[in-house]
Amino acid sequence: MSYSNHIEISKSALEQNINFIRQQLLRHTRLSCVVKGNAYGHGIPIIIPLEEDMGINHFSVFNAEEAYQVKQVSKRNSTIMIMGMLTQEQVHWAVEQEVEFYIFERERLQEAEEAAKKIGKPALIHLEVETGMNRTGVPFELLEEFVLKIDRSPHLQLKGVCTHLAGAESISNYYRVKKQTITYQKILRKLQGMGITPQNRHIASSAATLRHPNTQMDMVRVGILQYGFFPNEETFTHYITKKTDYDYPLKRIISWKSQVMSLKDIQQGEFVGYGTSYFAHSPMTIATVPVGYGHGYSRSLSNQGRVIINGHFAPVVGTINMNMICVDVSNIPNIQKGDEVVLIGKQDELEISVASFSDFSNQINYELLTRLPIDIPRIVVE
Ligand SMILES: *Cc1c(COP(=O)(O)O)cnc(C)c1O
Repeated sequence: MSYSNHIEISKSALEQNINFIRQQLLRHTRLSCVVKGNAYGHGIPIIIPLEEDMGINHFSVFNAEEAYQVKQVSKRNSTIMIMGMLTQEQVHWAVEQEVEFYIFERERLQEAEEAAKKIGKPALIHLEVETGMNRTGVPFELLEEFVLKIDRSPHLQLKGVCTHLAGAESISNYYRVKKQTITYQKILRKLQGMGITPQNRHIASSAATLRHPNTQMDMVRVGILQYGFFPNEETFTHYITKKTDYDYPLKRIISWKSQVMSLKDIQQGEFVGYGTSYFAHSPMTIATVPVGYGHGYSRSLSNQGRVIINGHFAPVVGTINMNMICVDVSNIPNIQKGDEVVLIGKQDELEISVASFSDFSNQINYELLTRLPIDIPRIVVE
């Protein structure tokens, strides 16, 4: 079966990335793979079984729908942790399914206890504490109230105490992030004073895992690294300046491909596509490719992006349409309808990286990847 466009996921590249992350971890630090946003666009149904085969048994998601998707494809009864949204109904579901979730406000705590009582199973909760991100998290003043309630309830089981750092990928946030870790330590001491020693302390994402290894503690929640990207250029520079070899340690696992839909010769002096943004200075051959902004190929790539066909770059001409782009193939010999078109990835010696792609389209890696629609077929390749 061939598709008008599809995504390939490289198993060997994923394995390389997971091994790299493992090498960065302290001896007792556990790895939770963050698979929110459909595994950063790569596809939960593809990523979970692959990673379970690589020994990963802890996954972090944003909401209950994602937790449900992970549950559907998990074969090894991995731990699932919801870091964000659950409705009251979904709290019931999570308790029933032994899915762990964050607590950052009274209502959720109340809902968790009621659900657990009714179902007859403990709610497995992570107390998210406020340390300075100011997004979600229980403020210091309310800590005692929450902890006493959890401690006294037979229906609530405290699985962890966590927080999120506000931008560990950039040195410009150093002071703020440092202050957060100090506040977190203060909170741990307070809990200790109340006789509570959390079994699972976790605060680090990809950036903090690399830049501040002392934040790794019991577990890290790593997202972007597993997909083969550093959180930003700065984190990579920081990493590489400490090395003696300059090999890039990560590998992009995603490729995005389509095919030539149709070919057309046009005359000098004509415009291509909507409006007048592209003018043909000479006779040219245009190939249409059935991918557009509706598939996540950003409109800002109009007259800017490029693809690879038959081992040659072909520039995008005219505006990106909803379902289609036009590319200039005048200089590509023997081009035929049905030829492979690489949007992201490699063909022969040429490559289009996600980074170059997102520079053009003004999106950061995270954004470009998660915008890839869920219904583009995804297949595993070696
Ligand atoms: C997304 C997210 C992570 C992972 O971030 P990366 O930069 O992709 O490693 C970790 N923790 C929380 C709470 C998140 O929302």
